[in-house]
Amino acid sequence: MEFGTTFEQGLNSLYSEQLKKGFRRLRFIDILEPEFRGYHLEKNAQKSRLAIGFSLSIIVLAAVFANIIGSDPMFAMESVALFVMAPVLLCTLVLSYSNQRNVYNIMIVASALVIGISGTMVNLQASAAGMSYYFAAQTGWIFMVWLVLGIQFRATSAVCIIITLTYMTAAISASLPVDELLFEGFMLGAVNLIGGYSAYQLEYNARKTFLESKLLAELAERDGLTSLYNRRSFDQYSKRVWRQSRRERDQLTIMMIDIDRFKDYNDIYGHQAGDDALKQVAEIISESVQRPLDMAARFGGEEFSLILYGPANSYGHDLPERLRKRVEELAIMHEAAPETGYLTVSIGVAIIHPGASRSLAGSIQMADQALYEAKDSGRNRVVVGESGNTNVETGQFRVRKYG
Ligand code: GH3
Ligand code: MG
Ligand code: MG
Repeated sequence: MEFGTTFEQGLNSLYSEQLKKGFRRLRFIDILEPEFRGYHLEKNAQKSRLAIGFSLSIIVLAAVFANIIGSDPMFAMESVALFVMAPVLLCTLVLSYSNQRNVYNIMIVASALVIGISGTMVNLQASAAGMSYYFAAQTGWIFMVWLVLGIQFRATSAVCIIITLTYMTAAISASLPVDELLFEGFMLGAVNLIGGYSAYQLEYNARKTFLESKLLAELAERDGLTSLYNRRSFDQYSKRVWRQSRRERDQLTIMMIDIDRFKDYNDIYGHQAGDDALKQVAEIISESVQRPLDMAARFGGEEFSLILYGPANSYGHDLPERLRKRVEELAIMHEAAPETGYLTVSIGVAIIHPGASRSLAGSIQMADQALYEAKDSGRNRVVVGESGNTNVETGQFRVRKYG
């Protein structure tokens, strides 16, 4: 998961925007489209491999069979099968196991086209030799391209239209009997219609599933009321970033933010007003997260946590003070707050230097302890503790009260 994302990206994510906007033309906005293509390719990789492997076996078997029969008119068929079709399919199959996803993507479309076009030559030659049943392979391949190869609808449409037109043009120039031409034209039309319709549905559903699963994953990381990351995400991320900061010998800052006298606020103005105030404070916290590795979360109840990871500077000192001020400037009336008359927050900060012999839990505890001091010394203030600063004790937790 990516952190440092802003409030607006929360529940109104790109995925939900795209779901709302629709995608009848099977195209997402530019940022999402490549992600979907990669997902689609991977999702279909196994099915595509099966289809390619199966076709490769059939082609090789057919060539061997034609060789056994030893019929002269089929000589071209064997050469096309063994020297054009089989190598292209083999190459695509091998590429499907490599990391060259772009090359594989091109090769799978190229295979669809090459097999379709060279198949046309083989089929027409077989027809001329009185073996018109080879046509079944042509329809089979078109069906395979539409439904099993896992190519996207737009590319598939182009490939199938080209193969069909090539076949019909070649069949007309080869002067196939009119009844055969009509039948084959009808069959190819029907296969393309049914295949095309089903392929459209398949991709439409794949796109829908993609958006919904991404959205679900995103929702699971977020808090429903504030759209900030939830406690679980914070725990996961803080562990990750903690390890990284120790490894890279970087400074890490942890902030605990708690709304002052929030119980009273709820009691006076009601729970709904409390929720609205929580959202406003959360938005300010979220807006303060600007750097890619910083993260804001709802720690629980009316308590938030911020983790700042970046080059050591005065950020860890300035940001909390700015935050505190901005909440005060919201000027949310709170008549039970004797000092200001407005809703305020207290903030505890722990700045952890690279060399500190402290655990993550100990660091969070340090921020917590600083918050406790901020509360104790009158609320609406910031207390900063630095690792190595003995004024802030970390030996005990304050008792948490969540409504
Ligand atoms: P202090 O200044 O010491 O932090 O006092 P406080 O009243 O803010 O602290 P306390 O822990 O006693 O009360 C927290 C209150 O937060 C109680 C609870 O009803 C409220 N609260 C927690 N979560 C929510 C929420 O999601 N919505 C609303 N409206 N209130 C909440
Ligand atoms: Mg509170
Ligand atoms: Mg609290």
